[in-house]
Amino acid sequence: METPLADIAPRVQAARDAFDRGATRPAAWRRATLEHLRDLISEREERLLDALEADFGKPRPEAWLTEVGFTISDIEHTLANLPLWMRPEKVPTPVAFKPGKSVIVREPVGVTCVIAPWNYPVQLLLLPMVAAISAGNAVVGKPSELAPATAAELTSLIMALDDPAVTVVEGGVAETTELLAQRFDHILYTGNSRVARIVMRAAAEHLTPVTLELGGKSPAIVSRNANVKVAAKRIAWGKFVNAGQTCIAPDYVLVERPVHDELVAAIGAAIQEFYGDDPQASADFARIVNEPHFHRIEKLLDSGTVAVGGQTDADTRYIAPTVLTGVTMDDPVMGEEIFGPVLPVIAVDSLGDATRLVNDGAAKGDKPLALYTFSEHDADNDAVVDGTTSGGVCVNGTLLHISNPNLPFGGIGESGMGAYHGKYGFDTFSHQRSVHTRSTRLDPPLMYPPYTAKKVSLLRKGMLMADPRDLVAKARSAFRRG
Ligand code: NAD
Repeated sequence: METPLADIAPRVQAARDAFDRGATRPAAWRRATLEHLRDLISEREERLLDALEADFGKPRPEAWLTEVGFTISDIEHTLANLPLWMRPEKVPTPVAFKPGKSVIVREPVGVTCVIAPWNYPVQLLLLPMVAAISAGNAVVGKPSELAPATAAELTSLIMALDDPAVTVVEGGVAETTELLAQRFDHILYTGNSRVARIVMRAAAEHLTPVTLELGGKSPAIVSRNANVKVAAKRIAWGKFVNAGQTCIAPDYVLVERPVHDELVAAIGAAIQEFYGDDPQASADFARIVNEPHFHRIEKLLDSGTVAVGGQTDADTRYIAPTVLTGVTMDDPVMGEEIFGPVLPVIAVDSLGDATRLVNDGAAKGDKPLALYTFSEHDADNDAVVDGTTSGGVCVNGTLLHISNPNLPFGGIGESGMGAYHGKYGFDTFSHQRSVHTRSTRLDPPLMYPPYTAKKVSLLRKGMLMADPRDLVAKARSAFRRG
């Protein structure tokens, strides 16, 4: 149910009051809130899985793995590491500024806002909220109205925390517009790049920093030296999980011509193995979230030739796992992020041609969120990784690079700015405050006026005197360069 517009400003104000009272800053509050959240998720696991199934037939094991389990494991990782992350970080102090010491203190930024999309509605709302809480902030979440059953469950779950510092606003454009009119200290938005521009404009009014987690066309590049069977399985899994409605799904495949046919056949075999002869009857294959998306994706099936799948059913918003061949870069399916179970496989003459095609898009700002490269030869994978850019990379695999909490998750260019997950989320929602503490034991008059020639000469020497640590670093670099 939508939050009444008139309730939004008071809800944000209540979160600010809690922050200003200092309620969210203590480590004990952060820990207790995260534990409470984890326990509520565990208790309500079945309710969440029901809601995800109701919204777009998300298969329960998939929903547990990518949503509920993923979120609980992120909270456990955060709880385990929080004392370490919160500890002030000692950094060296240059000789010229001694005696003294320097530390970086990560302090909460204030009241934060997390706006989530519908495709992984649980983890994409809760993971950033976990990061905001871990950093000692108040946080207002906004689940997506396009997964309404899950949004209602998430609202009920967050409200059950019964804490004004961790709250939620439910609704669509009107409610989000009202929410964005409030002043926040950080906004993390996940979704499409059109709305990202609206979010960034609203944030600019208050000079609020933003993290934007967006999408785009993420390529998979398959070398003639790849283990084609394994590549096909991993590409098919990454593409068809959640019926292709995954921001980091391989959007399309560029494959070296000699292994094109073998790859297409192997992807077809993987689809058959995963979902049986009739994927529509499989309990393990999701549906398209709504009618507009169904019709948008259905139209993309006209590009190239259907090599595998192609069946659709408007009544149940089913689109079969589909492989298209003979697609050109000018076809509609290559003109937008597919975000559905349709996989164009395009033959290229060389890996150089593949990276050139990816870089043509990047040159226009379309830097991919994820990039996948498959080869048994390290040199092939290195050439692809070094010759391109993207938010993240998985070599000889798909999706899994975002499951490692020790790696930052975020995009570049049109695929986003900033990052989170694990410590990177904690840092995103923290202000890195420099604290330099001087000793009063010595108080050389060098920096004080009057600036006599002698003082200036000593100061210049002192400022330019090499720090012993820099000398060591220089020697180490020279040694590494050989
Ligand atoms: P969506 O339609 O659910 O929108 C996302 C959020 O924006 C919702 O909470 C919605 O209420 C809000 N919103 C919509 N219109 C708005 C407006 N005019 N003003 C203010 N707020 C508004 O989700 P979507 O945008 O369709 O999500 C799909 C896109 O998100 C894809 O491009 C996908 O690649 C990307 N995505 C990225 C990630 C990531 O982590 N990088 C994850 C998932 C999805």
